[in-house]
Amino acid sequence: MKLEIVAGLSLKCLKPRVWDRRSEYHLPGLRAVMVSYAEFHQMPAQRRQAMERGLREHLGIPRRIKIYLDNGAFYFLGRDGQTPRREYEEFVAQSHPDWYPIPQDFIPSPQMTRAEQRRCFQRTMRVNRAYQQDGFVPVIHTGKFLEQYTAALRESEQLAGKKSLALGGIVPNLLRSPKAAPYAEILAGLIHVRQVFADKHLHVFGIGGTATLHLAALLEMDSVDSSGWRNRAARGLVQLPGSGDRMVAELGSWRGREPSREEWEWLEACPCPACRQFGIAGLKARKIYGFCNRATHNLWVLLEENRRIERRLANNTYSKWCERHLDNSIYLPLVHQLLKQKNSGRL
Ligand SMILES: [Zn+2]
Repeated sequence: MKLEIVAGLSLKCLKPRVWDRRSEYHLPGLRAVMVSYAEFHQMPAQRRQAMERGLREHLGIPRRIKIYLDNGAFYFLGRDGQTPRREYEEFVAQSHPDWYPIPQDFIPSPQMTRAEQRRCFQRTMRVNRAYQQDGFVPVIHTGKFLEQYTAALRESEQLAGKKSLALGGIVPNLLRSPKAAPYAEILAGLIHVRQVFADKHLHVFGIGGTATLHLAALLEMDSVDSSGWRNRAARGLVQLPGSGDRMVAELGSWRGREPSREEWEWLEACPCPACRQFGIAGLKARKIYGFCNRATHNLWVLLEENRRIERRLANNTYSKWCERHLDNSIYLPLVHQLLKQKNSGRL
C-alpha cells in the first residue's frame, strides 16, 4: 500500500503553490494538502469565504489534490480554551474538506502522569463517541493508553465501522523527551493499532522529517502530514535525503549545521524544480523568494524519499539500502527493530 504525504499549508502565505500546474514550483508528485481550522478561526473573513465558496475553490486547489482539515487542537489547547465545536462543525459542513477529524482531541505529552494521560484519553474518547455518526475521523494518541483506545473503539459498532482513523502524539514520544516510553514500547503500540485496524485508512499527525517517514512506511500507515518543509525553509534550512537538515541561509539568530562539500555538490545537482531553475543562489536567498525555493526543495525531497522507500520495499532492496542511506540517523535502531519484526512475520 502507498503512503500518502500530506503537505501542511499556511493560510497566511499560500506560496509556493506546489499544487498548481501553472506555478514554477509545481510538484507533480503531490497528492494531498492540509490546512488547520485554527487559522480559519483566527481569520474570520477567510473562514466566511471558504464556507461560501467551498475550501477547494477558496484555496484554488485542483480536484486531483485531496484536502485534509486539521482541527487545530494543539493551538486551542495552548490557549487554554475549548475548541469552538459548533463553529467547526458548521465549517466542515459548508466548506467540504475531503478528510476531517473530530472537532477536538486532548493530546497527552510524555511528561504527563498516568492519571493526566488517562484524563486525555477519556476526554478524547468522549468526543470520538459524540461524533461517531458522521464523517468525522476518530483520533487516538500514542502513549500509555493506546491499547485502551483500540479496545474502546472496538466496543462501539459505529466507531469500529469507520473507514479512517487518525493517530497523534507520535513525534514527541519518538523525540526522546525524558519521560517518553521506550522505543520498543511505542513501536509495539503502533504495530498493534495497524493490526487491529488492518482495513482502515490510518493517518499519522505531524511527522517531522525524512527519517520518520521510514518508520511510517514500515508501519504501513496510509498517510502522514508534515509542515516541516515550510518551517525549516523559514529558518533557512534545507532537507537532504536520508539525513538531517542543513543551514544554507543565515536568517536572524537561527544556527544550524552547514552542508559539507559533498552536500553542496549534491544540492548543486538537485533536480527539484527550485534548484533546477534558481540553483544554490535561490536556496540561499532571503525573503519570500528564498523561502519558496527552500520550501519547494524540502517538500520535493520528502516526496522523493517516499517514492524511493516504496520502490526499495517493493523490490526487496530496502534493508541493505537503508544502512547506507539512514547513516547517522537516530531512527536507524528503530528501523532495524521494525525490519526484524517484519521478517519474523509479526508485522
Ligand atoms: Zn532542490
